[in-house]
Amino acid sequence: MERTTIIAANWKMNLSPSGGENLISSLKESFSIQPGLEVAVMPQAPMISMVSQYLGMSGISLGAQNCSNAISGALTGETSPSLLKNLGCDYCLVGHSERREIFSESNQLVAEKANLLLSLGIIPIVCVGETLQERENNTHFDKISDQVNIIYSMTSNELWKNLVFAYEPIWAIGTGKTATPDQANEIHQFIRKSIKNNACENLAGSVSILYGGSVKPDNAAQLLQQTDIDGFLVGGASLKPEDFIKIINAYQKG
Ligand code: PEP
Repeated sequence: MERTTIIAANWKMNLSPSGGENLISSLKESFSIQPGLEVAVMPQAPMISMVSQYLGMSGISLGAQNCSNAISGALTGETSPSLLKNLGCDYCLVGHSERREIFSESNQLVAEKANLLLSLGIIPIVCVGETLQERENNTHFDKISDQVNIIYSMTSNELWKNLVFAYEPIWAIGTGKTATPDQANEIHQFIRKSIKNNACENLAGSVSILYGGSVKPDNAAQLLQQTDIDGFLVGGASLKPEDFIKIINAYQKG
């Protein structure tokens, strides 16, 4: 089954407006659109409209790192998903482990955000993954299936085709430790099986499942060759244009 490969840059709380502009101009110089591949950048919320202008007609997509679970209201400091839509966001991360762990976001809150984004036509990239301790205790499958199942129980089935998942083992994020291609693929297959149990085989076969956690130019091609890895969510390496471009080029070689 043909699935879209998505390579998304999570800039986190990094890059100034000029840093973002420089990075995008390097990408534009070396990036050409290829069928079956989507490349997205996800800046901090206040930089989204600026970045949208820098991207212009480059074909690079725009995403946000987080959003509120409400459209509007007295929610100081939050970002409305409908504003993200107006600003031209194609994607929005939900449930990044930094949101779940540092800001105590629950599975339910993450599912509410995913539901709202789907209803507005923004693709939620739902991040799931386990801590090192959970992996060592062998509770990682349970944790991931809970994180996946609630998304299906709280979103409308006509919109399920627009969901994207990112498997990000917490022990691999920003640590330099990457899951081996086999370890990552095993979990991607498990997520696909959970999708099949919640929805159907066809849908499970068409959902893109990205890997995130210390993706680098030297491990990207091998990870992408795995049967169930459909792209990446890249943190640190996405801030270095030469590294991010090499990761994108792993798609051509993959
Ligand atoms: C991330 O935070 O989404 C991530 C994958 O970070 P890094 O690539 O730096 O591990």
